[in-house]
Amino acid sequence: MTAIYSRIAIIGIGLIGSSVALAARRAGIVDHIVSCDSDPEVAPEVKHLGLADSFTADAVEAVADADLVVMSVPVGAIGALAAQIMPAMKPGAVLTDTGSTKRSVVRDVTPHVGDGIHWIPSHPLAGTEHSGPGAGFPDLFKGRYWLILPGEVPEVEVARFEAFVTAMGAVAERMDADYHDKVLALTSHLPHLIAYTIVSTAVNLESQLKNDVIRFSASGFRDFTRLAASDPVMWRDVFINNDEAVLEMLQRFSEDLSDLQRAIRWGERDKLESLFHRTREIRRSIIDAGQS
Ligand code: NAP
Repeated sequence: MTAIYSRIAIIGIGLIGSSVALAARRAGIVDHIVSCDSDPEVAPEVKHLGLADSFTADAVEAVADADLVVMSVPVGAIGALAAQIMPAMKPGAVLTDTGSTKRSVVRDVTPHVGDGIHWIPSHPLAGTEHSGPGAGFPDLFKGRYWLILPGEVPEVEVARFEAFVTAMGAVAERMDADYHDKVLALTSHLPHLIAYTIVSTAVNLESQLKNDVIRFSASGFRDFTRLAASDPVMWRDVFINNDEAVLEMLQRFSEDLSDLQRAIRWGERDKLESLFHRTREIRRSIIDAGQS
């Protein structure tokens, strides 16, 4: 395949950044990858894993001459990073991010976007509980949605970026920031919040009980511990930057939980069973949609 972007700069070469490097390289859609990370321990690992043609700790140096710049750093850091690199970006280049919240990223980056820069916020719906450059793999995006916010960018540039993510195996879908944050609050952010809460409830149990919870951990609790092992900085930033939608979904969740609590207390067998039938259908539709 011929290159879709000749030179790309990936700033923040953790799980997502390294997966972009590996997937883009394998698809043959880039000629040169420059990677950049603020963590000094990352440089030798990037070299060892062959994640880039060149590496620099200086983001300004990384973006010079890049046709596509991917900001894959925690959402709380994206605005300041955009402000820092913008004067060094090449006119006509595409700037994107992979952040898990979109309203805050659009708010923090848009005021800095220079003339001739095509700002296309985006979010790949793919990830694991691992972080760092060693966690990436080229199939991370395979069959996963990659949400794209086209804004006012010319159609030809949006289509080119869509071709880029599609070549990495993702399914491109356009969305706006408000809708994105509402959907993700329920499908991703709330489940992580619940997982962090359940695991911290276990931590607070008296020690014998806690030890046995860990020792006899069955699949339900084990699944929550996987989610609760996700990167602390990334998730701190997600909750702080999508507070409105998360609090709204949490309110609804609390009401539904109280309803369930009441059904258990009053022995409402039919109510419990019919709810569990409905939720089982949701699981089946996720499997049918190939997103399990
Ligand atoms: P990660 O594995 O923790 O990697 C992020 C890297 O960026 C770290 O090495 C970090 O260094 C570095 N960094 C932070 N600020 C920087 C800056 N200003 N300049 C250069 N490097 C900087 O994170 P990730 O999981 O790949 O997530 C990256 C982004 O993708 C986040 O916005 C996240 O919300 C989003 N995302 C994540 C997932 C997921 O499942 N993990 C899924 C979809 C989207 P330090 O460690 O020194 O800070």
